[in-house]
Parts: sequence; C-alpha cells; structure tokens
Amino acid sequence: MSISRPAFFPTDENVWRVRSFIPLAQTGLYLLFHLALRNFLTSLLRTLPIKLMTQSELLTGAVQAFKTQFGSSPTHVATAPGRVNLIGEHTDYNDGFVLPVAINRQTVIGASLRDDSMLCIFSKNNESFVQASLATLTATKEHSWSNYSKGVAFELQRKGYTIRGANLVINSDVPVASGLSSSAALEMATAYALLILNKISLPPQEIINICHRAEFDFVGVHCGVMDQFISCLGRRGHALFLDCQRLAYDHIPIPEGAAFVVCDTGVGRELAASEYNIRRQQCAEGVRELKSVLPSIQTLRDVSLEDFEQHKGRLGDLIRRRSRHVISENHRVLQSVTALRKNDLSEFGKLMYQSHLSLKNDYEVSCPELDCVVDICAEEEGVYGARMTGAGFGGCAICLVNREFAGAVVRRLLIEYRQKTGRTPQVYLCTAEDGAHSWELS
Ligand code: ADP
Ligand code: MG
Repeated sequence: MSISRPAFFPTDENVWRVRSFIPLAQTGLYLLFHLALRNFLTSLLRTLPIKLMTQSELLTGAVQAFKTQFGSSPTHVATAPGRVNLIGEHTDYNDGFVLPVAINRQTVIGASLRDDSMLCIFSKNNESFVQASLATLTATKEHSWSNYSKGVAFELQRKGYTIRGANLVINSDVPVASGLSSSAALEMATAYALLILNKISLPPQEIINICHRAEFDFVGVHCGVMDQFISCLGRRGHALFLDCQRLAYDHIPIPEGAAFVVCDTGVGRELAASEYNIRRQQCAEGVRELKSVLPSIQTLRDVSLEDFEQHKGRLGDLIRRRSRHVISENHRVLQSVTALRKNDLSEFGKLMYQSHLSLKNDYEVSCPELDCVVDICAEEEGVYGARMTGAGFGGCAICLVNREFAGAVVRRLLIEYRQKTGRTPQVYLCTAEDGAHSWELS
C-alpha cells in the first residue's frame, strides 16, 4: 500500500522555506495593513465636511470679548475681508494690472465711542490690549500689531478729520501673516469703525488712501495699494480688475460654479522682503536699459510684448527674464479678464499655470513647496489652473476649481502636501465676497 505524500509535507527543506517566508509575509501584511489604513483615512478625510466660521460667529466673539474688556456692548460693528490675488503677481509696483478677490474671511471690529481721547484696542486673536492717546500716536515696536489701527487713526487726523476716543475689539478669521492680507483687513475694518463712530462719510478712494498711508508710512511696510483697494471695494461673485497706474478699476463677474482653494504652504516668507527689493531694482534696471530705445516709458507697464520682443536683445539674461515676467504677466491679466468675460474658466486656468511658470523660471520667486501645491492641484479633477500667489518664497498658492470638486481638492491637498513635503498646510476654500462695511448695533 502506498501512502501518497500530502501536498505540503514538512521535510527539513520545506520547514526552512516556511521559516524564511514568515518575515516576508509579516512585512507584506504590515505594508498591506498600513496601505489599507492610509486609504481608509484618506477616503474618510476626503468626505469630511469643511466648516468655515460665519460672520455672526466672529461678531458674537467680538461682542463677548468687548463686554469682558469694557463692561458693555459695542454700539457699532465694522468688517473688512482678506483677499487673494487671482493673477497679476509682482506687477503692482511696476504700475501694472492685478486681479484680486475679497474672500470669505474677514476681520470684525466691535466699537464704541469713549468720553476721552484714548484709543483702546483689544485683539481677540492674540489676546492683547493696547491703549494710546489720539493726540500722541506713534508706531511702537512693542505690540506692533496695534500700529495698523493706530496708523489709520493717525492718518485720519493728519487729513484733518476730527475723531473721538474709541474702544475697539478685533476678531478675525483671516490667517495672520500668511499672504491673505490680514493687515489691510485690519486697517480697513478700523477705518470703517472710526468713520461710523464719528459720523464721517468718505469716498472709497479716500478711505483706501488713508489705509494705504497707514501701512506705508506709519507702520513702515512699503506695500502697493492693491490690498486696501480690494478689502474696500470687493464685490460678491466678482474679481477686481485694477490698473495700478491710473488707479482705475472694474468689477469682473466670476462665472457661476467657480471656487478658489488657497493653500498656505507653511513656509515662512522671510526671504520675501529682501528679494522683493532686489526684484524692484532689477525691474528699474530693465526700464533704464529699454529707455534708450523706448524713451517714453516710465515703468515696465509701458512696454508692450511686441516692443519687448524687438528690443530684448539689449538686456542681459537676468534682467531680460525679470522684465519678461512683468511684461508677460500684465498681458496675462488682460487675457484673463477677457477669459472671465467670456465665462472661459479653462482659458483662465491655463493663464494661471503660465503665470506660475513665469514666476518660477523668469522671476524666480517660487519655492519647491509652492510648486508642489501647483502640481498636486494640476492632477485633481475639476481644476482649471493653479499658481503661487503673493510675493513668493513661501506663503500661499491658489487653485481655480469647479465648485463641485473644490472639497476634494481641499482634502487632497491636506493629505498629499504633507506626505510630499512633511509640512502641515492650511487650506482654505474661498469665494469672492463683498468689501468692507459697517453698521450700528441695535
Ligand atoms: P498679511 O497681511 O499677509 O496677513 P502682514 O505681515 O502684512 O501679513 O500683516 C500681518 C500683521 O498684521 C500681523 O503680524 C499683525 O501685526 C497684524 N494683524 C493682522 N490681523 C490682526 C489681528 N486680527 N489681530 C492682531 N494683529 C493683526
Ligand atoms: Mg499685509
């Protein structure tokens, strides 16, 4: 009688095979488990709802903090939004074109008049309190955050407007120092608060100018005027096409169904200030060189693409690339406005990608993390385009996306950006909203 050998018979050789197979199988199972867990968490995150703070939540917070600080409720409220620039980067100080939107993140200020001439300011965001006499306002190193509000009061008085002492409580969901212009939102909300308290009515251009001077002169940040413009004149569902030379503007409707996802890379913008000054000098050099053949130009804004192509040979490689960015970017803003007017989001998106490449290669103000965000967005369904936004070297990137897919883009960035860079991003789903306003609390 023959006994058939089972398929797996524990001979020495087989035992050895099994033993060597065990660690392999363990590793495989371990990897499988982690992959499954990661996929599960990924799909879970991708379906979670995204919560935004509403204006009334911000207002409630400001009113409560006001009561705690000053023992009564504020009589008035002012609010001003942050902003994101859709296209037109490093064009403002070259007298060119920009296309920002006011976003659904804002700074709210609860305000009341005082009987004296003190300005008392509390920021709920940094739990800090400052008071100063309206007669002797100066910028201080300590509590430098309050310089933005003090600067507005200072500029109002410098222009001859009489203002009385006030209590202000600030509450904001504009990310601070991330490139979404919390500074202009703070200035604009302060201006609207002081104006309504003192029953002063000013045209928007005047308020914009006061806030810009507050940041430029009083705080000492040599910024362009775009941030104050859009925080004041933003319009729901519209972008603001601003000509920084003539200070003329137009509201351009954003097609229904478009949304903006803004991703803060978490990379600090320390380099931005020094590199910004270098870029300004390089642009000035470009103008100097081109002036010999185009004597009427004052800034790169005055140089057409055709003129540039004809005379670019006069410029060295570096200045040629810097100038090409500014001149082509101005052209792209004009094309973007045309695309928006035609409801052509695909064309707009292409111009955003081109803008990013130009900022990366010609102007050299991008960084690997900003490029990473743009690459991630480019792979996602429903995305029209993406680019870095702001001065660069960190800060934020913006993605134009079909509203239906915006949540998926947010969640994908939250997961994939961290996987690829090891950094935690802040991702904001933005819509175009109204600019500053103020009202009396009943
Ligand atoms: P961004 O305008 O891009 O947010 P800035 O560096 O221009 O960055 O301005 C950020 C500064 O504005 C902060 O460091 C702080 O001093 C001030 N600031 C803005 N919003 C607030 C706030 N809600 N509370 C206190 N300070 C604020
Ligand atoms: Mg700012």
